[in-house]
Amino acid sequence: MTLVMKFGGTSVGSAQAMRETADLILNARAEWGQVVVVASAMGSKPVKVTDLLLRGAQSALEGEETTYQEVARLLRQVHYEAIDGLLSPEGERQKILAENGKFIERYEALCQAVLALGELTPRALDTISGMGEQMSVRILAAYLRQIGHPAEAVDATELIVTDDNFQSATPLPKLTNAKTQARIRPLLDQGIIPIITGFISATQSGITTTLGRGGSDFSAALVGQALQVDEVWIWTDVDGVMTADPRLVQSARSIPTLSYREVSELAFFGAKVLHPKTMRPCVENNIPLRIKNTFNPAHAGTVIVPDTPNGNGGVKAVTAIDKLSLVTVEGKGMLGVPGIAARTFGAVAKAQVSVLLISQASSEQSICFATPDELADKVIRSLNAEFDEEIHRQDIDRIWAQHSVSIVTVVGAGMRGTPGIAGRVFTALGQQNLNIIAIAQGSSECSISLVVDGQDTAQSVSHIHDLIVA
Ligand code: ASP
Ligand code: MG
Repeated sequence: MTLVMKFGGTSVGSAQAMRETADLILNARAEWGQVVVVASAMGSKPVKVTDLLLRGAQSALEGEETTYQEVARLLRQVHYEAIDGLLSPEGERQKILAENGKFIERYEALCQAVLALGELTPRALDTISGMGEQMSVRILAAYLRQIGHPAEAVDATELIVTDDNFQSATPLPKLTNAKTQARIRPLLDQGIIPIITGFISATQSGITTTLGRGGSDFSAALVGQALQVDEVWIWTDVDGVMTADPRLVQSARSIPTLSYREVSELAFFGAKVLHPKTMRPCVENNIPLRIKNTFNPAHAGTVIVPDTPNGNGGVKAVTAIDKLSLVTVEGKGMLGVPGIAARTFGAVAKAQVSVLLISQASSEQSICFATPDELADKVIRSLNAEFDEEIHRQDIDRIWAQHSVSIVTVVGAGMRGTPGIAGRVFTALGQQNLNIIAIAQGSSECSISLVVDGQDTAQSVSHIHDLIVA
């Protein structure tokens, strides 16, 4: 059995964290037989290496020299401290210090070039921002070797092949699968634990790209797909996906099983669970994806499985996005006129704004939709321009926005075909005198979204959360 495990920045954030991570790796290996590790850059708060790398490069672009030098100093401090804490001077300490040192020197040279040229291309940004992963995996692999377990650091530029859309590259599955298999299988066959960089990848001609911020989760899924592993585990600092944001709801708890669709709804509506692209490679290959807590490894976490035809359990989670505006286009002349909706959303698209929720009553006298607060004015300007004529003819009476609203979304595939859930949700709010401004439910029946006043967000979430039965 083969398991891919992804460790985030905190799990490799210090010598102590890496020691604990090594324990988790070895325990899993004892149980599963073969383990493939994907790791992020060191990222213990407040020093997140990827952020630091980017900040230094950005300031060099702005013509400023001291920040990237300070970043280089911090990078040395953080990495050297971890190396000194983990690796013995008789062993690989010097070698790994030198390897990490080379990356940091290269970073300084690149920032110097950015400063001199006054140019920072997306391509350069990818080379720069991926160095954190290249350093961390070398340390972790050396530590595993030191404690007697063969391990090898692998740069994912050798595995994951992408297009050249720098900073958010799209993998090319066939090439990626072939390269990953060719490079990783022999290691596994020899009993070597591959420690792979998250986040980075390369074009067909070998130029470094990245999969987007937070992309290490996605890397793990891609490696899992290429090797057709039995499970992919994403280690994080909570017991899996929670029924609600624990900052809003004290009684929030971890959800044992979620379907892909439920997770997509949750992620779309604000729950920061996984990098959004992570699920697809797993779903398409029937690979369970598990979210586990490094601080509580005995906890099973949340396992994300393919959609079942009738998910049971009713409401599973409730989540919220705030700081939104509800834009309404209304007018008596809209009734039965084809094309109003198309033109409305055409105008929104022209303003390059994406819409989070749409609702239209069957009277067709108004359409409303939610956008981020700060984009509402832009959207309204675009709509006014589009409907100039209709406004003059008074077919459209008003285009306006209600600001500072939230979308509260109730998720659960078991709501499909289960009557009464919507009723219970509305009653839960009605009893507390919480006003619902608009409602939307997709025909997938996997979620219901309510728009409420921003001030009512926490209360709404918490009262709906009471409907979740253990
Ligand atoms: N280190 C990268 C980032 O901070 C990727 C990751 O951690 O997932 O965005
Ligand atoms: Mg992450």
